Amino acid sequence: MGCNCKNEQSQNSIFNSLGSAINDFVNGNFADEETIKKRYDTCIDCENLIKHEAMPPGNCSKCGCFVYLKIKMKNQQCPVGKW
Ligand code: SF4
Repeated sequence: MGCNCKNEQSQNSIFNSLGSAINDFVNGNFADEETIKKRYDTCIDCENLIKHEAMPPGNCSKCGCFVYLKIKMKNQQCPVGKW
């Protein structure tokens, strides 16, 4: 049996990112429209975007967030530094 440390780190990272996004949403910390557009354009072409129709454009495979919401939250960051 192998070590699950990487999986646990990844899960912790996803939970932290989701918690941060929810906190921003609850506190009304929204990004400006220009920032949202730039983030959207980056995410839509990203290899880490899991596209689906439930909440377009989809989820980020690196942090687990719904991109539609993540890009609107002022204090969010791309987990791989693209924005
Ligand atoms: S947040 Fe970053 S890694 Fe995730 S889909 Fe957008 S650009 Fe890609």
